[in-house]
Amino acid sequence: MIGIEEFSQRRLELMRMAGKNAAIVLAAAPQRLRNSDAPWPYRQDSDFHYLSGFPESEAVLALLPGRPQAECVLFCREREQPDEPWRGERVGTARAVTEFGLNDAFPIDDIDDILPGLLEGRERLYCHFGREPEFDAHLLTWMRRLHDARGGGVVPRELMSLGYLLDELRLFKSRSELKLLRRAAQLAVAAHRAAYAVAQPGRFEYAVEAELLRSMRAADAVPCYPPTVATGKNACILHYVDNHARLVRGDLLLIDAGAEWHYYASDIARTIPVDGHFTGVQRELYDIVQAAQTEAINMVRPGKDWDSVHGAAARVITEGLCALGLLQGDSRAALESEAYQRYFMHKTGHWLGLDVHDAGDYRIDGQPRVLETGMVLAVEPGIYIPPDDITVPAAYRGIGIRIEDVVVVTTSDPEVLSADLPTAAEQVEHMLAARS
Ligand code: ZN
Ligand code: MG
Repeated sequence: MIGIEEFSQRRLELMRMAGKNAAIVLAAAPQRLRNSDAPWPYRQDSDFHYLSGFPESEAVLALLPGRPQAECVLFCREREQPDEPWRGERVGTARAVTEFGLNDAFPIDDIDDILPGLLEGRERLYCHFGREPEFDAHLLTWMRRLHDARGGGVVPRELMSLGYLLDELRLFKSRSELKLLRRAAQLAVAAHRAAYAVAQPGRFEYAVEAELLRSMRAADAVPCYPPTVATGKNACILHYVDNHARLVRGDLLLIDAGAEWHYYASDIARTIPVDGHFTGVQRELYDIVQAAQTEAINMVRPGKDWDSVHGAAARVITEGLCALGLLQGDSRAALESEAYQRYFMHKTGHWLGLDVHDAGDYRIDGQPRVLETGMVLAVEPGIYIPPDDITVPAAYRGIGIRIEDVVVVTTSDPEVLSADLPTAAEQVEHMLAARS
């Protein structure tokens, strides 16, 4: 769990970065409706959670560095609203202060009257633009009110992108965040294991997905993205989520599924043979991806950068595909021309944290971001041979393989959070042999 002090520390750090004459305003995620009045499961906005831990919708956080009365102000719903019997108890303004460490809290219904005054005289306003059209409209209304105030209020002269400061903070994970990320990865590993037990010939992709979800929910976690359960050529569709096909003996099954634990994500992919044994051709491609992942993970060290990580994976995959004759010519030339992109069309990884594709720049001034201790990333090379690719022998067509793990940059060796789930082909077969 993230303690109240850590949330407070994050706000202080952000306010220090923003400077004394700034204001920072951000909104809670709205409750979205699935259809009619049935809501989607609610998930707080990651930035809002990062800075407050406050779990409800219809809330706005305003940070006002240097304001003597109160620097951290929350607007939220009041207690004892008529819908509490339906939707349950709310936090309310009083507990927002005592339980979430905010300096002051007001009813959200009063925000139009109060917030413009809080922004008065601030030089810069940090916020997200274009994320929530409704919030953007409110923001303009508040600026307008301030402008129209009697005597003419001083409207912030500069509108700044909040992500510019906040993404940089979120990129470096604290000890308590790493604990939650470790747990999220463990829960995803358990879900994968549960899914493999039913991933047998004759079963359906959705039945495998059901095991993933059952395992996560039984541990009070939720999936942090819709799981990909892709058998046979479906694995060549990178974000396949239909999950309707039947598992066939002799096919591979690609499972990409992550669990979210206390808002923190995990992202794990494995590709297993449905009947427990890789065919010769599957094994050829699998070993390339596995070697590529091992080399890429080995690059996750302070001082290396994204190009080192992706470059290692691309090199191993290119060499492997050239050796098999699936790419033509000399592997060095094939790497140079990025010919591998025909079969490995995505990047090798992404930041991971509160979001599965987490906040943070991948390049700075055109240069690849250098890795530093406390950064967390997913490493996920793959090979996908399109089913209709007539340039390769038929036996290779329609094979899709991805192996993905979550890795922490440490001062020594990379820490693989999902290391409990084997990747080496023999170990995968051994694990599958133990299925009932
Ligand atoms: Zn991923
Ligand atoms: Mg993934």
